[in-house]
Amino acid sequence: MTGLYRETRDVLRKYGVRLRRSLGQNYLVDDGKRQRILGYANLGPDDHVLEIGAGIGTLTLPMAELAGVTAIESDPFIAGILADRIKGDNVDIIVGDALKVGFPEFNKVVSNLPYQISSPVTFRLLRHEFELGVLMYQKEFAARMVAEPGTRDYSRLSVMLHFLAEVQIVDYLKPGCFFPRPRVDSAVVTVRPTGFRPPALFEDVCRALFQHRKKKTSKSLRESFHEIKADLDFSEVLDVLPSEILEKRVFQLKPEEILEIAERMEELSASS
Ligand code: SAH
Repeated sequence: MTGLYRETRDVLRKYGVRLRRSLGQNYLVDDGKRQRILGYANLGPDDHVLEIGAGIGTLTLPMAELAGVTAIESDPFIAGILADRIKGDNVDIIVGDALKVGFPEFNKVVSNLPYQISSPVTFRLLRHEFELGVLMYQKEFAARMVAEPGTRDYSRLSVMLHFLAEVQIVDYLKPGCFFPRPRVDSAVVTVRPTGFRPPALFEDVCRALFQHRKKKTSKSLRESFHEIKADLDFSEVLDVLPSEILEKRVFQLKPEEILEIAERMEELSASS
């Protein structure tokens, strides 16, 4: 039993808290993994860190010794415990839903995320400018973030992230690293945004295509064409796309080819 495990059990007992898996409440209790995560964040006095789902402060407290932190936590009772445990004035706590509250300015984001909001919170983060994210996800989600074309995990998420950020899986965590134990393995991921701003239709095109990931691109586009919010004629779109793209199965398209589809459609809608 590590020191952090005992400390976490003691805090929860003291406040009489029962954590709920349904709220994504799985607290990190492995000292060594915590050190590694903090190491990847490489914090200093000029950093301002955003933390989503701060819990009782397992990451927040050591981070606040090195940098300014804004900690978002949706559970008001847990946020109260966090406030009690903070010494000094380096931490702002926001009690609220990380998908709804406004984010402050931050240059790094370090979080053991509530896994049920992995996808929306990641895209929300990427609409902000920052240098580095050190984020924990369910292992399968992390695999989809970095998947290459033609593989089983290749998805809308992989394609979008290919352009929006450099993503690397840097560590894995077993259920025993958390209390209570989640039913899934986890991964630590570093995220470095590229600053790339995709064309407006890119997100729609990705969503539409991956609804039929095994079909031919032409067929998939036709069946999900209504998902793409542009006033375009399907036959015109077919005319401007190279046949080698239209003939491929969606899951075999390179991210660049999907970008090309969005760009060609964008040009068409500008000229019509
Ligand atoms: N960072 C802590 C806690 C991780 S568990 C640690 O590593 O130990 C995730 C935390 O996110 C829980 O405390 C949960 O209450 C909180 N949470 C769940 N949904 C949230 C949301 N939508 N917005 C903000 N916090 C949320």
